[in-house]
Order: sequence, then C-alpha cells, then structure tokens
Amino acid sequence: MNLNKILNNDAFSRDEIIYLLNLENQNEIELLRDAAYRTMSKFVGEKVYFRGLIEFSNICLNDCFYCGIRKSNKNFHRYNLDKEQIIEAVKLAMEFNYGSVVLQSGERTNESFIEHVLDLVKTIKSISTNDIFPEGLGITLCVGEQTKETYQRFFDAGAHRYLLRIESTNESLFKSIHPPELDFNKRMDCLKSLKEIGFQVGTGVMIGLPGQTIENLADDIIFFKEMDVDMIGMGPFIPHKDTQYAYMIEEDEKSKWKNYELALKMIAVTRLVLQNVNMASTTALQAINPFGREEGLRYGANIIMPQLTPTEVRKEYQLYDGKPCMDEFAKECHLCLSGRIASINREIGYGEWGDSKHYFSRT
Ligand code: SAH
Repeated sequence: MNLNKILNNDAFSRDEIIYLLNLENQNEIELLRDAAYRTMSKFVGEKVYFRGLIEFSNICLNDCFYCGIRKSNKNFHRYNLDKEQIIEAVKLAMEFNYGSVVLQSGERTNESFIEHVLDLVKTIKSISTNDIFPEGLGITLCVGEQTKETYQRFFDAGAHRYLLRIESTNESLFKSIHPPELDFNKRMDCLKSLKEIGFQVGTGVMIGLPGQTIENLADDIIFFKEMDVDMIGMGPFIPHKDTQYAYMIEEDEKSKWKNYELALKMIAVTRLVLQNVNMASTTALQAINPFGREEGLRYGANIIMPQLTPTEVRKEYQLYDGKPCMDEFAKECHLCLSGRIASINREIGYGEWGDSKHYFSRT
C-alpha cells in the first residue's frame, strides 16, 4: 500500500484503516498526524473547545472489571457532591468563560438520582442564561445507561449532548471486560435511543485492552462512522491497582507507551474517516505522557475537558491509576490548559458551545 495515496483519499477501506493503525515508522506516523490535522482544520477548524468537567459522584452500581470506581472496590471513599458544591463548580465555568460543562458520575438509575440530575440541568441552565449567553451553558451528560424515558427527560430539561462509550464494539471483548449484567446490545440500544431523542451523541473505546487487536480497533472506527455519531472520546486503557488488571501495572513500560501511541493513531485515523465530528483529547493520554493532551490535539482532536471537580474529592474519582491534575485547584487547571493550548498555537473557543458540526450535517 502507498501511504501518500491513502492519506489523500477521503474514503477509507477497512484494510487501509488497519494499515494506518499499524504504522510504526516515525516519519510515516507524522505524515498521518499532519493529514489528520489538515482534515480537522478543513472540517471543524483549529479552535479548541472547553467542556468543564464536574465528576459529581463516584457512587456506582456497575462492576466494570477495568474501572477503579466499580461497585466492588472498597478501597476508597464514596462521595456525592451536594447541589451547592456542583453549582460552585458551574460558577467557575462561567467565570473562566467556558461554553459548556460535562456532568459525569458513576451509574445509578433510581428515581431520586434521576431527579437530582434533572434539577442540576435545570438549575445550571437558569443560572447561566443571561443577555450575553441567551442559551446558557451547553450541558453534556455522562451518567451511563438509562431508559429511553429517562434520556428524554434529561433532554427536555435542557441537556443537549450525551457521552456513552461503547468501550469496544467487539461483542466478545466487551463481554470479557464487563460483568454479565452489562449487555452489549443494551449499550447499543442506549446509543440509538440517545440519537432518536435528538442528543448530540458521543461514544468511544479504550485502546490497548487485554486481547484487543488492531482489527478490533479498525472495526471500532467503522462502527463510529456507521453509527453516525457526533462526538468521540477515547484514550489508552490504563490498569488500576484495585482491579483484576493490576498485574499489568508491573508489565514493561513498553506496552504502556505502545497503547499511548496507538491511542494517538486512533485519534488521527478517526479524524480522517469521520471528518467533521468533535473529538476529545482525553486526560488518560496525559496520564502516560505529561504532554499527552497537547499531542492529542496535534493528532486531530479539538475538545478538552478541564477539571472543575472540587480538589478535595478528585482523588476519589480514579478510574485508572496515575490520573493527572489531582492536587490543582480549578483555576490552576484552567491556566495550565490555556497555556498548553497556546503553546501549540491553537485558539480556545471561549464562551462558545462549539457544537459538533457533524450533528448539523446529519439532522
Ligand atoms: N459511568 C459513566 C462515566 C464514567 S467512566 C459512563 O458509563 O459513561 C468514563 C470512561 O472512563 C469510561 O467510559 C471508560 O472508557 C473510561 N475508563 C474507565 N476505566 C478506565 C481505565 N482503567 N483506563 C482507561 N479508561 C478507563
């Protein structure tokens, strides 16, 4: 296969996607990166949009094998921020002129949890709406699998984006990392419901899962395309000490960097194939390389999620080990990220929602 010829295409076969993900030569990887950057500039522009991240509770009823806050892990403290604490974080988002916030938590489906989320969405909308921002802050939810009715209620309350990762589109791989009660088809149905309701829908996968192949990852990208999603968030799988994958922490440094590099290639190839989606440069990249998030932006990502979770509980939201930015106050994270983005000559879309262009092209 001829790399330049592939990179100048605007349609990619499965074999070509696999070929690109398999690139090992540094010069060739840089050609891939630059092609992805050009596609990003052409279809969504070079601006980086901020989504202030509020991890409002780590209480979770699921027991995903890879996740540090899964139900059966008893080695840390469970928290549930009260409304005032969450609103404080939202006010910081407004002070820093972020266009949007993300409310993320462990998974619960009981009515009082749902009502709490509805109340938060409505309150955030009302306090952030004014003459300058007639539509208020954009609100993204990331609270897992819920019924279609619940998703509809979230949407009617004013949330307009939803993140739900498929984790892996290979059903047997999905099964191998989740307990039996988490059903692959149910996850698919959730994504379909979210789209039917009218959300801008984001999904994604972990990269470097035990047993995952390059072919699996190529199929993930093809799935994103066929599912016609608007947003992508993906990052390297990082083993957590209180999970069955703890043994992998001891494994050689090499596999960690391999996952990191593969994650960057995934971002680049996903940009080439999906063109006008919004794509996050995720914190997990920075857990491996201190400059990982800037690198993600250089490989075609255009979204960053600065931390707004109160510093005192941040340590209790460790999905994986080595999560960065644990001790900083939100203001420090804000200044740090703005500096990092300026360092790679990218502009920040302050005060803008920065919605997925893909959403408007498909609706
Ligand atoms: N419960 C919510 C959100 C919390 S987890 C939900 O299901 O949407 C957010 C994401 O963190 C997950 O979708 C998963 O892809 C990622 N994650 C969890 N554990 C991880 C690990 N050990 N390494 C890398 N990413 C992980």
